[in-house]
Amino acid sequence: MKEIILCKYGEIALKGLNKSSFESMMTKSVKRRLKSCGQFSVSKAQSTLYVEPLNDDSDVDMAVEKLSKIFGIVKLCRCCVLEKDMDEILTKSLDYIEDEMETARTFKVDAKRSDKKFPFKSPEICIEMGGKILERFPHLKVDVHDPDVVVTVEIRETNAYVHAGSIEGAGGIPVGSSGKAMLLLSGGIDSPVAGYMMAKRGAIISAIHFEAPPYTSDRAKMKVEKLAKIITAYCGDINFFCVPFTEIQELLRDNCPEELFTILMRRLMMEIAQRICEKEDIQALVTGESLGQVASQTMYAMVCTDAACRMPVFRPCVGMDKSEIVEIARKIDTFDTSILPYEDCCTVFTPKHPKTRPNLADVEAAQNAFDWEPYIQKAIEGTKPYLIRNA
Ligand code: ATP
Ligand code: MG
Repeated sequence: MKEIILCKYGEIALKGLNKSSFESMMTKSVKRRLKSCGQFSVSKAQSTLYVEPLNDDSDVDMAVEKLSKIFGIVKLCRCCVLEKDMDEILTKSLDYIEDEMETARTFKVDAKRSDKKFPFKSPEICIEMGGKILERFPHLKVDVHDPDVVVTVEIRETNAYVHAGSIEGAGGIPVGSSGKAMLLLSGGIDSPVAGYMMAKRGAIISAIHFEAPPYTSDRAKMKVEKLAKIITAYCGDINFFCVPFTEIQELLRDNCPEELFTILMRRLMMEIAQRICEKEDIQALVTGESLGQVASQTMYAMVCTDAACRMPVFRPCVGMDKSEIVEIARKIDTFDTSILPYEDCCTVFTPKHPKTRPNLADVEAAQNAFDWEPYIQKAIEGTKPYLIRNA
């Protein structure tokens, strides 16, 4: 039987005159991500994307999985496609929903009739369909309040569609609708979540990672690349910048007050990230910081970090508890990789007693006591970007 995936929009249905540009960004993401699933046609009507397999080799399961991670889609319905004929709907659709009905105990029917010329009204469709279902699956009972399965009949412009349950979409707005942001990506739990959250609000994500070999290993870098790869399922392809940071870290260790090491390191990271952003036309920085989580994430420390920034620094995890961040990390599948025990450059040379209330004047004085410029430039020259692709 002919099948289709209906992808229902969320917020973008309300975007007025801008709706079509949001739609086209989403359609582009959909087409790109479905490439590995075989051939599909993608069209739009009535705040819905119609994704239709074009031959038997098209992998519909995989397509549903990919589509459920595309921002802008709130709900996916995998349906059978039928003629707009009541007899056909009442007979053929029951074969299609058979598996779901066999395992359920209760159900209800929901009808949506956007084609008002269809000769049966929604309540009539529900009654007819409910009757047929009870006839064919006599173990079932109707429960309109809390059914195991909701059978939905949608009468749209060209066809009727029936499904027995929808799949939650990723929500948000399409990637590409909110500018470009540079994610400072470590190997930890928080920064991949931060990248996911900014992509959910439409940002195109690039990622920058600071490595400090031989203090940090190749495996640590591979872990970060793997995290970037995992979030491409949501963000799309990620331009990845890996900055050689060892020399700067050693100079910091040898030339700066120990208790300011972390904050100066973060300011230099921000400086390097910003210069790359300026070259790449990226408008903002993103970090995984959460207020008060560690010494470098107090408000005082953030003030000192931001004073080194010319562009906005977004911290989508700032008001979240670790447990809330972990919950998202599990959902987006980064958690198990994040907890692999490889060192990060931030944990190399960590001071025993970092200042939780650094004073900006002291921090700036400490930074200005040394000429960082040649080392910043050298680090940038040593940074070769490459693309991490959504598989
Ligand atoms: P995460 O779980 O994201 O590693 P964290 O709680 O370990 O965060 P920190 O190590 O203090 O916190 O880092 C704070 C933020 O700084 C990170 O969320 C990340 O955005 C950025 N960051 C830290 N280390 C690096 C690095 N080596 N390369 C790029 N960004 C980094
Ligand atoms: Mg970390």
